[in-house]
Amino acid sequence: MYYLDPHIHMVSRVTDDYETLAKMGCVAVSEPAFWAGFDRGSVDGFRDYFRQLTEFETKRASWYGIQHYTWLCINAKEAENVSLSREVIAMIPEFLDKPGVLGIGEIGLNKNTKNEATIFLEHLDLAAKTDELILIHTPHLEDKYQGTRMILDMLNDDRRLEHHRVLVDHVEEHTIRAVLDDGYWAGMTLYPTSKCTPERAVDMIEMYGPERLMVNSAGDWGPSKPTAVPDFILAMRLRGHGESLIRRVVYENPVKFFSQSRNFDFTPPETYEAVG
Ligand SMILES: [Zn+2]
Repeated sequence: MYYLDPHIHMVSRVTDDYETLAKMGCVAVSEPAFWAGFDRGSVDGFRDYFRQLTEFETKRASWYGIQHYTWLCINAKEAENVSLSREVIAMIPEFLDKPGVLGIGEIGLNKNTKNEATIFLEHLDLAAKTDELILIHTPHLEDKYQGTRMILDMLNDDRRLEHHRVLVDHVEEHTIRAVLDDGYWAGMTLYPTSKCTPERAVDMIEMYGPERLMVNSAGDWGPSKPTAVPDFILAMRLRGHGESLIRRVVYENPVKFFSQSRNFDFTPPETYEAVG
């Protein structure tokens, strides 16, 4: 089955992963900017990272017929450096009209600190002023419930933001309802060590239906599985769900959400032309 992975950090993966994804039916990936495993020292470090995301990564994906999209921000971990964060936010508009840039993300909270909240709000302001989509990271484990609540409160307070243009990622059983009830899109992350398993994602589809829900691997430099979306497809089939419901979650929903961006120039696989 054709699918999109709406959240995966391909800069941290080897080229062979693109080949594997393509063989499994992945036609497009969306790559949010994230933490590199160390704090970057200057705004130029981010400018180079954004060039990698918008130039080379797009090319590397295309070698395997995969369409590559991206999101830009300074992540919550590095938001503790408020002055650097502000320099990055001021620089982001240099890239917003590049092909494949879908919006601002993944912004959010990590340890739910005051500085993280300050920089989150400044990202929201940039997105509102530039009419960009927003992709949000919610915190891990014990910080998730409170962090998600704080994020939703800050989003709901900004009347300029249209809820159907915001994706709140890494939802779990205790946060999904609040996100969907407020009219946002929700992403379930299939991760081997935390977040959500394919089976728990199937449970949530059964409880809430497919409306405004997607699944992703969030594959990165840590223990993670870039082929987690195909695992979810299999888990759905084994649970007896039909192909049209599965396709809605792994293909139609991400296409629908991303299509709200002026830079989503997606070519459906059905229309691919034969070469030669
Ligand atoms: Zn991520």
